[in-house]
Amino acid sequence: MRRLERNRRIGALVVDDSLASRSFIASLLAAQGYQVAHVADGSSALRAVEADPGIRLCIVDQEMPMMDGIELTRRLRQLRARDRMAVIGVSGSTDASLIPRFLKGGANDVLHKPFSREEFFCRVSQNIDQLELIGTLQDLATRDFLTGLPNRRSFLEHSERLLAQPSADAVTVAMIDIDHFKHVNDSYGHEAGDQALRAMAQVLQQHTRANDFSGRFGGEEFCMLIHGLDREAAARHLEALREAVQAIELDIDGRPLRITISIGACQRDAQCPNLHKLLGEADRHLYLAKAGGRNQLRGLEPR
Ligand code: GH3
Ligand code: MG
Ligand code: MG
Ligand code: MG
Repeated sequence: MRRLERNRRIGALVVDDSLASRSFIASLLAAQGYQVAHVADGSSALRAVEADPGIRLCIVDQEMPMMDGIELTRRLRQLRARDRMAVIGVSGSTDASLIPRFLKGGANDVLHKPFSREEFFCRVSQNIDQLELIGTLQDLATRDFLTGLPNRRSFLEHSERLLAQPSADAVTVAMIDIDHFKHVNDSYGHEAGDQALRAMAQVLQQHTRANDFSGRFGGEEFCMLIHGLDREAAARHLEALREAVQAIELDIDGRPLRITISIGACQRDAQCPNLHKLLGEADRHLYLAKAGGRNQLRGLEPR
């Protein structure tokens, strides 16, 4: 049952020049709940995969005119990596060199026609399970367990990538630290502290625009990378975040719990051209925000 439920979110594409054969395979997949489409040749398959990122499984016939299955697999791989989409080759040929050629071309698996329903279901499920497992491992490596936010490593990698692209767009880095959080833990308990961190993460996510990126830097420290807002607009954006956090009210066994944040920010310029400098300056401004009385933003004052 859980598998059927899961499969509804997975797009599958069957590529086979024989209508009877591709309809049969498509009906097997549809019976397992997959969102199935089928096409008759390689170029249609490439177009379909390019257009639909939801396709996670391709069943590819080897014997097709124009472009054979191995060639198609090679080209599919240029569009989507093995950890994003499974390609399963099928062939009626007994040529022993076929399986290694398919696998070298980037197929995850190869099935020999005719195959039983059971064999087909097992191979498909195993390959989809593997994709899911890889996805879970990637999440574990890049997301913070408590809040679900990108972790520090993920934030740093994303920021490095963005800053490496030559662009005139304004980039702002903000370091965000919950005020007197030790006191929250001491007086409400560690569990309540965790709850506050999750609430904080949720508000941070809500204030992260489509091209921006936020993460949990560690402990009660968060970070945000803002793209395309000038000094004044970035300051307004972060002030809105600060106010939204101030408005969080948690109920801890009948006692209200509120938190505030201090924010240190820095916008990219000639003095702070790279991530290292930006983070350093943002951190320095965070320290000033703390020293200045907390619950405030520093670093984007009008010049
Ligand atoms: P300041 O206003 O100067 O930032 O004071 P603070 O108390 O927030 O700063 P400090 O660095 O002294 O304490 C941070 C606290 O955050 C201490 C630590 O126990 C708590 N903390 C870090 N990670 C977690 C977590 O995952 N869960 C909980 N509940 N607490 C955490
Ligand atoms: Mg064929
Ligand atoms: Mg703190
Ligand atoms: Mg701290």
